[in-house]
Amino acid sequence: MHRAGDYNVAYLTNPGITRKAFMASMMATQALYLSTNQLYCEAELLACFQEDGQWIAVLDKTVFHPQDEGQPGDTGRILTHCGERAQVLHTRKVGDEIQHILDHPLPTGMTTMALDKEARQLHSCLHSLGHLIGTIGLQNGWQPIRANHWPNTCHVEFAPKTHVVELDEQTIAQHLSRLIAAGLPVQISLDQTGTRRVGFGDLSALPCVGTHISNTRELPANIRISTRLQQGNLQVRYHIPEAA
Ligand SMILES: [Zn+2]
Repeated sequence: MHRAGDYNVAYLTNPGITRKAFMASMMATQALYLSTNQLYCEAELLACFQEDGQWIAVLDKTVFHPQDEGQPGDTGRILTHCGERAQVLHTRKVGDEIQHILDHPLPTGMTTMALDKEARQLHSCLHSLGHLIGTIGLQNGWQPIRANHWPNTCHVEFAPKTHVVELDEQTIAQHLSRLIAAGLPVQISLDQTGTRRVGFGDLSALPCVGTHISNTRELPANIRISTRLQQGNLQVRYHIPEAA
């Protein structure tokens, strides 16, 4: 059985192959961002097609992190080895496929892809801060129950476990300063079930597919923290003001 939508492809740079046939033969995009903080890579552009008015490029591998609940999708550029260039406006994941939204189409073939360094560094800092604040909560009797690491909405929410220690802005900022000064390296490992776990130094590692800084020393000093208690839960908001 097939659906009409399977053939709703306005453009495909690889003639003679339909989107459906392409999808059927597709392997999952190799997610290089899980094992490296590299900002660029060589990758083969396998297909470029239009869906809902957007140009979408799929490559065999990518350093671009797709949007998820933890952080926004990476932006950057793709340059073909013939010299054609497109901006990557957004990156998202559909099943095992990572899709790069382009400002205009590119032909298939070998490319160099490079992501926007400053945006990635900010997302990695905010995401890593979420881990550190989560750990500070855990060490003081608070269980992290939800988190968001998007610029302007970053927060970690905690539910009280037993013997909670009260945490205010100043206390959390002091704990953070200590963790930053300690220069804790990121620790990434796969557990027995193949789940990627991420932590800093010997702090507890949490399941995570996001991007992180290499060392807590990369975090800026001007982190803004605010806290509030709501129905017994502790909400910690945090923010890195943009450089003047
Ligand atoms: Zn993480």
